[in-house]
Amino acid sequence: MDLRGRPKRCSLHFGILPFIVFALVFFGYGFVSHRSQELGTPGAMTRMVYAQPKALTPSRKDVLVLTPWLAPIIWEGTFNIDILNEQFRLQNTTVGLTVFAIKKYVVFLKLFLETAEQHFMVGHKVIYYVFTDRPADVPQVPLGAGRKLVVLTVRNYTRWQDVSMHRMEMISRFSEQRFLHEVDYLVCADVDMKFSDHVGVEILSALFGTLHPGFYSSSREAFTYERRPKSQAYIPRDEGDFYYMGAFFGGSVVEVYRLTKACHQAMVEDKANGIEAVWHDESHLNKYLLYHKPTKVLSPEYMWDQQLLGWPSIMKKLRYVAVPKNHQAIRN
Ligand code: UDP
Ligand code: MN
Repeated sequence: MDLRGRPKRCSLHFGILPFIVFALVFFGYGFVSHRSQELGTPGAMTRMVYAQPKALTPSRKDVLVLTPWLAPIIWEGTFNIDILNEQFRLQNTTVGLTVFAIKKYVVFLKLFLETAEQHFMVGHKVIYYVFTDRPADVPQVPLGAGRKLVVLTVRNYTRWQDVSMHRMEMISRFSEQRFLHEVDYLVCADVDMKFSDHVGVEILSALFGTLHPGFYSSSREAFTYERRPKSQAYIPRDEGDFYYMGAFFGGSVVEVYRLTKACHQAMVEDKANGIEAVWHDESHLNKYLLYHKPTKVLSPEYMWDQQLLGWPSIMKKLRYVAVPKNHQAIRN
C-alpha cells in the first residue's frame, strides 16, 4: 500500500530473503527427510513399448475413475502396471504391511502371508509387521527375496471391538518408533482375508482408503457413518463422499501416522464421553478421510466378499477377499 515501503521491501527481498530461503530449505529438509526423500534424483525411465493412452478413449466407461478432488479411483483397466513398477523401482520403494493377529486370529496368518507372497507388491521390498500377543504361533512362511517379517509383540484386549480399535494406537506408536525409518509406505490390513489377485504399487500414494464392498453403490444417507453428534466420528446426513472400509487403508508413513494418531485420539475422547462409535475404528477412519481427502481411492476390487456379494461384471478382478469365519467362535 505505502509507496515509501516499497524500496524497503525490495531491499529485504534481495538482501535477507535468499538467506531465509536457504535456511528453510536447509533446515526444513531435516524435518521432512524420511526414507522416500533421499538426496539425488532417481534415474530416468528406460525405453518401454506399451499401448498408447488415448485422450479421447476413456479407460473405463462403467465406473468413476477420478474423485472430484482429482484422486484416481483404482480399477482394473485404468493403469499400466509396468510403468508404475518402473517408477516405484526407481525410487527403491519399501512397503510395510501391518496386520494384527491377536488371540485366535493367529489362525488367519498362514493363508494371509502365503497369498501375500503370491500377490502383494511382488518385485518390491516388503516388510510384514505382524502385531500379535502370541508370537510363538506366528507361522513360518517362506518369503521371497527382499521380503522379511517382523513380529511385534503387543497386548490383547478382552473385547474384539477394543482389539480392532487399538490398532490405530499401535500403528501410530510404531510409526513414530520405527516405521518412519524403515519403510516408505504403510498398508494396514485385516488378517481375516486373503490375496487372490495382483495388489501392487498402483495402490501407493500419500493417503489411500478403500471403498467398502457393501456401500460402493449407496447414497451417502445410507452410509453407516456414526450419526450421533456426541461422538467425534459424527458425520451429518448431507455430508460424505464414500464409505471406506476399515480393513484396508494406507499411505506414506507420515500420513498414516497422522491418520492413526487422530483416530486414536478421537476414540480416547469418545471413551471419556461414554460413547463408542457404531463401527469403531472404521467410523473414525471415515470421519478422518472426509476431512483429509485421500490421494487415491481403491475400488472394491481391493476389498471383496464373494460369499456375500458374488462376482458382479464390473469387478474385473477380486484382489483381496474375505476368508469366511465364524464370528462367535473366533472372537471368544
Ligand atoms: N483382530 C484380532 N483379534 C481379535 C479381533 C480382531 O487380531 O480377537 C484384528 C484382526 O486383524 C481382524 C481385525 O482386528 O482382521 C478386525 O476384526 P474383524 O476382522 O473381526 O472385523 P470384521 O472384518 O469382521 O468387521
Ligand atoms: Mn475382518
